[in-house]
Amino acid sequence: MLLEASEVSKAFGNFWAVAGADLNVEEGEIVGLIGPNGAGKSTFFNCLAGDMAPTDGRIVFDGVDLTRASPEAHARAGIGRTFQVPATFEDMSVLDNVTVGAFLRHPHRGDARERARRVVELTGLRGEQSARSLGTPGRKRLEIARVLAMQPRLLLLDEALAGLTPMEVREAITLVRRIHETGVTIVIVEHIMEVIMTLTRRVLVFNQGHVIARGTPEEVVADEAVIEAYLGRGTRSHSRERGNP
Ligand code: ADP
Ligand code: MG
Repeated sequence: MLLEASEVSKAFGNFWAVAGADLNVEEGEIVGLIGPNGAGKSTFFNCLAGDMAPTDGRIVFDGVDLTRASPEAHARAGIGRTFQVPATFEDMSVLDNVTVGAFLRHPHRGDARERARRVVELTGLRGEQSARSLGTPGRKRLEIARVLAMQPRLLLLDEALAGLTPMEVREAITLVRRIHETGVTIVIVEHIMEVIMTLTRRVLVFNQGHVIARGTPEEVVADEAVIEAYLGRGTRSHSRERGNP
């Protein structure tokens, strides 16, 4: 088992954004993580990547307890994550942005540069382009490239394909496949079901900080609790809007 996250919880004041979530990931898997907005998916990723310390629970990666380790320690151990809002240096070129990530494993500038070049090529970006001039698909790719440059063994993708056109989504799916083929294990948070259906064989569904369903993509989309989580919430707010003034 590459990742063993057990009973992970995260409280903000007395609100539990994540409430006892378990996730085990075997080396080589692509696991999907879905759920309505506010379900706690990004907060769970924050805990897994060390950006936040969980309030409770345990996170073991490759046999090492990282529960309260720093984000740097997580990155060094091999957990990489993309952010929903990309962490881009706007005034720098694509290659320079990716080189920043590559310094994690390569203290010598030349080596970092070389690693960054290879990652930029893999992601289909142009290194000399300024980050500022990138459109949405370029930004999404750059965010992935920045993390890949750190040579993660486990890549956490947080809505890395959101905002893309259907054609761009298909290209991005190809990119994720290619990354997976280089030996990277992946957990992917994504609202676009085509992405989940195409890339994953195992899915967890989050709602209100809990895992409410697990199974194949086909199983979870047919699950009553999942349908209620997605539709029930919208229906309730809808009826509230139409109900009492
Ligand atoms: P998701 O990624 O599934 O949409 P999030 O993990 O972003 O959900 O958020 C889960 C819940 O936790 C939301 O209600 C959100 O408002 C709340 N939340 C997230 N981050 C913080 C924070 N830093 N402080 C307080 N509440 C937060
Ligand atoms: Mg989120």
